[in-house]
Amino acid sequence: MEKELRIKELRKKNRELKWENRQLKEENKTLKEMIDYLRKNIYGKTNKKKDAYGVRPEPRKKGAPFGHKGVTRPKPEHIDEEIEVSDPRRCPDCGSEHIQATSIREEHTQEEIVLPRRKNEK
Ligand SMILES: [Zn+2]
Repeated sequence: MEKELRIKELRKKNRELKWENRQLKEENKTLKEMIDYLRKNIYGKTNKKKDAYGVRPEPRKKGAPFGHKGVTRPKPEHIDEEIEVSDPRRCPDCGSEHIQATSIREEHTQEEIVLPRRKNEK
């Protein structure tokens, strides 16, 4: 009898873990899309591999690339922290160290997005 109870428990746990796994996969997918989106906006590059003909896949059109929120977020009214970033030593895209400084400086506003907690999390 005790065994049956244990099996029941384990089945329940298994269902929970499967559910959690699915949630995590979805979250992971969203985060990967976010990374891709941010890379494109910061470096103007994608990490998409070129195909057999050496052609990169068509870049995704701007507008709601992940989630369903509008892309052109208004700049935040309050800036918590300003960070001066030194020049990279390597090309962020291909990793090459043969890079040269240019006069181009870019500003980038980053907002931290807090993901909502799932119900079963403490
Ligand atoms: Zn490069």
